[in-house]
Amino acid sequence: MRCFWDDRQLAHAPSVELHNGAFVPFAETASRAGSILAAIGPTEAAADHGEAPLRAVHSEDYLAFLWSAHKDWRAAGRAGDASGYAWPVVRRRPLALDRIDARLGAYSFDASSPIAAGTWEAAYWGAQTALSALGAVLAGERAAFALCRPPGHHCGRDYLGGYCYLNNAAIAAEAAIAAGRQRVAILDVDYHHGNGTQDIFYDRGDVLFASIHADPLLDYPFFWGHEDEIGEGEGEGATLNLPLPRGSDLAAYLPALDVALERVTAFAPDLLIVSYGADTFAGDPISHFRIETGDYAAIARRIASLGKPTLVVMEGGYAVDALGANVASFLEGLS
Ligand SMILES: [Zn+2]
Repeated sequence: MRCFWDDRQLAHAPSVELHNGAFVPFAETASRAGSILAAIGPTEAAADHGEAPLRAVHSEDYLAFLWSAHKDWRAAGRAGDASGYAWPVVRRRPLALDRIDARLGAYSFDASSPIAAGTWEAAYWGAQTALSALGAVLAGERAAFALCRPPGHHCGRDYLGGYCYLNNAAIAAEAAIAAGRQRVAILDVDYHHGNGTQDIFYDRGDVLFASIHADPLLDYPFFWGHEDEIGEGEGEGATLNLPLPRGSDLAAYLPALDVALERVTAFAPDLLIVSYGADTFAGDPISHFRIETGDYAAIARRIASLGKPTLVVMEGGYAVDALGANVASFLEGLS
């Protein structure tokens, strides 16, 4: 399978994040990519598709904020990584927010996603990596893998969060539609609900979002991913949430996967995008499913049985030592 990667994604390296009430080392490390690269073999460089595909998903003001946030943080006399400490929640409306702390609050939903000096560069090339792998699939490859880092699925049209700054899967979906594809299905199999992707396409009937994830009553991102979220307007019925309890193993996972795949089949997409997170792994340090390395091949084989042109976009996975083997198992099952 053709795999895409760009070294500039290593530029994103925050030092700490707020997790369970304490500042802890940032879990979404550059070493994650190293583990995957060592396991999957040769990769192709990403081509630069410019900012237009990013603007098709994210708002102009959000992109401008993200581009300058760390510079603005330093200009305000701060050291280290930029992170918010106050969020608008109820009174979320357009305001001429001058202070960097206010803008960090307005454009984020958590304190686990600091902006470092290299965040824009890494996120930009993550999106370009997704677009480059998409290009291979649109040109006729049955499947391609975009090693995106930082991940993207928690990031919405105008907010960051959950280690995500640009929504790589959503950017690829919009680009596919701009290239003439009529219907795109996004299957999100990360441990966490892909709230950003869901939000972006919530009122759209041409993009199906189906997600299997930890029950958000117990796990991040808490406020999205519940079964009664089904889309709205033209998108009603084009969002499918399949939360599973903590401790779910392959036997518990496969029936949910079959439900998701039946929905994908009924939707009849001409492109399938898989938001693949390996944080469903039994040994993941921040998650609570029990999927084993060999199970990923079984999951991927069922996805491949749909026979759809498939773009795989990397999302989470924090058991760094096993991450490469988990990704390789998934890609092997897909091909
Ligand atoms: Zn995750």
